[in-house]
This record gives sequence, structure tokens and C-alpha cells, in this order.
Amino acid sequence: MLCALLFLLLWIAVAWGADPVSVVTTSTDLKALVQAVGGEKVQVESLAPPLHDPHALEVKPGQLSKMKDASLLVRIGLDHEPWLDRALRTLSDRRFVRDSPNYLDTSKGIQLLQAETPRVRADKGAHVHGFGNTHYWLDPENSKPITAAILETLARLAPGERRYFEANRKRFLDQLDERLKIWFRAMAHLKGTRVVTVHETWPYFAQRFGLVVVAVVEPTPGVPPSPSYLASLIQKMRDAGIKLLIAEPYSNASVVKQVTSQSGATAITLIPSVGGDSEAADYLSLFELNIKRLSSTAAAAR
Ligand SMILES: [Zn+2]
Repeated sequence: MLCALLFLLLWIAVAWGADPVSVVTTSTDLKALVQAVGGEKVQVESLAPPLHDPHALEVKPGQLSKMKDASLLVRIGLDHEPWLDRALRTLSDRRFVRDSPNYLDTSKGIQLLQAETPRVRADKGAHVHGFGNTHYWLDPENSKPITAAILETLARLAPGERRYFEANRKRFLDQLDERLKIWFRAMAHLKGTRVVTVHETWPYFAQRFGLVVVAVVEPTPGVPPSPSYLASLIQKMRDAGIKLLIAEPYSNASVVKQVTSQSGATAITLIPSVGGDSEAADYLSLFELNIKRLSSTAAAAR
């Protein structure tokens, strides 16, 4: 009897949306976007910290139990998080599967780049980007389909809060559109600038803001370059007069140093995820910071 009463109270609390929806995301960027839509009606945790290779992570037992307690799991999808698939196999929770209301793969609504080259190879143990480039949150325009999917998913879990979620998303997108105008103006003088990146993190960002990524230091994403590949890359950068190398905070520092010192290019560290720098506390300030860094470093490198 007591059990039935408790169950009824719990059901009423959930139905009225009294408790925030508990969400686990695979990245801090998705966390920021869930917070932008969910506001105070969500409680969000990211499995990956911001300054970590997003493709390589070990999920800790404490995080597994957080997943177990969550109502919603939000992920980048494709082969971005091979570590999540391992964790899901351990967890064996039937709620976190494709087409479940408790599971959101935000890659679904995205026009993927680099999807035309099949790079899934049976002979490589570690590979990522096999189905297309997965760093799509770095085109700010992609936050529109991502937040649309988040809105629909949250509204299914907390139907009474739909209007609240819609108002939050609209406010976020209005701010984004305002900032986009400013960012385009700030990046205008860099349009057509040729860059080399360490990992293939930046094609979406580059396409949106007019940079041209001519080569990458990791020819196979996630696999360190061979000495002969590096030597030939450095020669090509010298020949082509490439002035900028874009690295991440977790890039191999000695490889970055070797490429810049031998090619004459300047290295710039951009922040790939929200929270990777104190100035990149949310999704919009992530772009604000990267555009500021690019504008000042690229001007100095000319
Ligand atoms: Zn990647």
C-alpha cells in the first residue's frame, strides 16, 4: 500500500515536471546546448571533460552509475565516442538504444562533412571519422538542428515544459544570430587563409568562417603521424607558404613544435569544447574566444 502511494506521488511529481530532467551528455558542448534549452528544468552532466581527446576516454564506475540514474543520454554519435559504446555494453540499459525516447544522437539532423570518403578500415584498430567528420558542433549554425532535436526530446520527457523549452531555445538562437553577424565581420579579413590543423577538428568551423584547411598533421584521425609523413608535410607547408597551424590544448606539443619550427608557421591553440578555457564558459563564448584568438594570431603571422 505504502509502495503504491509512493509510486503515485513519484508519478505525479514526474508528470508535473517538478523534478528537473536528469541528463548525461558525452561532451561539454552538448551539455551547454542542453542547458541552453532546458534551463533550470534540467540537471546535466558531461562524461568527457573539456580538455581531453573526445575520442579517447575511460568511463569511470561513478559515471556509469550516473548514466544509470539519468533520464536522457545525449551523444555526438557516429564513431565519435567509441568509449561510450563500450560503456553502454557494460551498462546494458535498454533505455539507451536508438529510437528510445531516453537516447538522443544529435548527428541525425546534421549535414556531415567528409562523409563521401569511406574510411572504415578493418585493418585499423583505432580510427575515428569513419562515417564523416564528427566535430560538427564547431559550426555555430549546427547548434540550430542540435537544439531542435534537444527541444523535441526534452519536451517528450517533460511535456508540460514544452513552451518553456521553446522560449529558451528562441532566446539562445536570437543571441546566436546576433553574434554570427559580429563573428563574420571579425573573420572577414581571414577569408581564404590556408591553414594546417593537427587533428581534423576544424572543417565545420573553417567552412563557416572561410578558412581553408589544406592538410592535417594526423593523416589518419586519432593515429600519430609517421616521421616520413611529417617531413613531407613540413616541406609542403614551406613550399606553399602556410603560415598557421591550428592545434588543440591536448595536441602533442613536441609534434606541434617540430612542425612550426621547421615550416616557419605559427601555432595557434583553439579551444574545441566549452569549458576548455575560463573564457569559453558557454557555447557562444567558445566561438567568441576562438575568433578573438584567430584574429589576433593570424594578423601577427602575416
Ligand atoms: Zn576527431
